[in-house]
Amino acid sequence: MAQPLKVYNTLTRQKELFEPINPPYVGLYVCGPTVYNFVHLGNVRTFLTFDTLFRYLTHIGYKVRYVRNITDVGHLVGDGDDGEDKIGRMAKLEKIEPMEVVQRYTNDFRAVMATFNILPPSIEPTATGHMVEQIDAVRSLIGKGLAYESNGSVYFDIARYNAQGGSYGKLSGRVLDDLLNETRDLDGQAEKRNPLDFALWKKAAPEHLMRWPSPWSNGFPGWHLECTCMSTKYLGKQFDIHGGGMDLKFPHHECELAQGQSIYGEEPVRYWLHSNMLTVNGQKMSKSLGNSFLPHELFTGSHHLLEQAYSPMTVRFFMLQSHYRSTLDFSNEALKAAQKGYRRLANGLRIIKSLEYTPAEGVAADEKKQQEVRKAVDDFYAALNDDLNTAVGIAQLFSLLKYINMLNLNQIQAAALGEEVFGLLKDSFIRFTENILGLKEEKTDTSAVLDGMLTLYREYKEQKQYDKVDQIRSYFKAQSLVIKDMKHRIDWAYEE
Ligand code: AMP
Ligand code: ZN
Repeated sequence: MAQPLKVYNTLTRQKELFEPINPPYVGLYVCGPTVYNFVHLGNVRTFLTFDTLFRYLTHIGYKVRYVRNITDVGHLVGDGDDGEDKIGRMAKLEKIEPMEVVQRYTNDFRAVMATFNILPPSIEPTATGHMVEQIDAVRSLIGKGLAYESNGSVYFDIARYNAQGGSYGKLSGRVLDDLLNETRDLDGQAEKRNPLDFALWKKAAPEHLMRWPSPWSNGFPGWHLECTCMSTKYLGKQFDIHGGGMDLKFPHHECELAQGQSIYGEEPVRYWLHSNMLTVNGQKMSKSLGNSFLPHELFTGSHHLLEQAYSPMTVRFFMLQSHYRSTLDFSNEALKAAQKGYRRLANGLRIIKSLEYTPAEGVAADEKKQQEVRKAVDDFYAALNDDLNTAVGIAQLFSLLKYINMLNLNQIQAAALGEEVFGLLKDSFIRFTENILGLKEEKTDTSAVLDGMLTLYREYKEQKQYDKVDQIRSYFKAQSLVIKDMKHRIDWAYEE
C-alpha cells in the first residue's frame, strides 16, 4: 500500500508527514479572492491546486472542513496599509454600491470555479460578515499589549511581539532589517511606532465608502485580520492546513501567523502550503501587469496571445501536469499538448466505463500485466502522497490507459488481467481521473444524441449513402469528436 501523505511545509521548509490534529477530521483554510474584478487564470491555478488537495484528502478518508473566504473589505490597492480599498475603488469607478461590486464578482468567481470543476468549499465566509469577530480580535490584541491605537487606527506592535518570543519573518524567511530598508515612506507611517507594524483597524477617511463603528473610529479592518478570525472561528485556534498563492506568504500570511499566535498563545497553523504562480513569459500573471487572461477569453480564443480556444478541462489538465510548487508558464504549445493529453484520458474514461469483465475460456491470467497495473495504481498514490505530485500521478494514469486501449482494441482480453485486477484498473482509472484530478468528459451533446447519430451513421453506411455518412462525420468533427470505424465495432471518440 502507498506511503502516508507528505506535504511541503513553508514554515519548516521541508516535506513533512501529514498528521492531522484530530483525525479523521482535517481543517483546511485557503485565502479566497478579493472580489473587485473578474478572476484571471492565475487565480484559477491557486484554487485548482487546493481543490485537488481537498479532493485527495477526502479520497484517502479524511473528513475535511474546507473554509475558503471571500475578501469583500479591507484589501487595499497595493496590498499595504494605505490607499483605497480595492472594492470601494471599483464601486466609485462603476458608480455602483460596494456590495454590488462584491455580488457581481462573487457570482463570476463561483461560476468560473464551477466551470473548472473546482468544488465549493464547506464554508465560504465573508470579511464583512465577521466584523464582530474582527473587532473582538483587535480588542484582545490591545489587551495583551501587542497592539496600539494611533489617531483612530490600530496597529500590531511587531517589536513587542518579538520581545515576547514572537518571530516576525519566520514564515516567509524575511529578515527584519532588510524589511526595514525596503519600507517606503508612506502616508500613515507617522502613526506607527515601527514602520513594519501593520494595520488591524483603519480609521476611514471621509471619502472611504465602507465603514463600521468601533471603539477606535468609524473604520474598517486590516486585510490580514479577517483570515485569522474566519479560519479560527470555523477550524479552531490551531488547525491543520493553511493554503494560498506564494505571493501571499508575505505580508499576508506572516501577519496572520503573528496575529493568531498573539491572540491564542500558540501557532495557528500546522502546515502552511503555498502554490506557485502562473506566469506569462516568465512574469507573474496579474491584473495590474495587464498580462492576465480571463477564462472566457481562453474558452473562445479571443486574446491576442491565444492561437486557438482551449476548453476548461484542457486547462485543468495543463495545470495538473506541473507540480504546484513549480512556476507554470503559459504557452500555446503546452496547452495544445495538454488538449491532446486530456482527450486521450477522456477517451480512456469513456472506454473503461463501457467495459465489463467477461471470463474467457482458455485465457490464463498474465501475471506480468497484472503486476504492471497494480504498480501503476500504487505509484499513483505514491506520487500524490509525495507532496501532491499530480505531474507524476498523471504519468501513472497513462500507464493504466495503455491497458484500457489494449482492451478496447481486443489486443488483450479482460480475462488476462483477471477479475480483481480488471476491477482495480477500472475503479482506479475512473476515481483518479474524475474524483481526485477533477477531470471530466466535455461534450456538447448528450451521449444519447451521439449514440443516435451513430446508429444513423451505420444505417447510411449500409445503404451506401456516403454524402450522409460524411455529413454525420462533419457533425461529430464540429464538436471535436471523431467516428472510429473499427473492425469489430463503430464508436465515437474525442479527437486527440
Ligand atoms: P487575489 O484575488 O488577488 O487576492 O488573489 C486570489 C488568489 O490568487 C491568491 O491566493 C493569490 O495568491 C492567487 N494568485 C494571484 N495571481 C496568481 C498567479 N499569477 N498565479 C497563481 N496564483 C495567483
Ligand atoms: Zn487570507
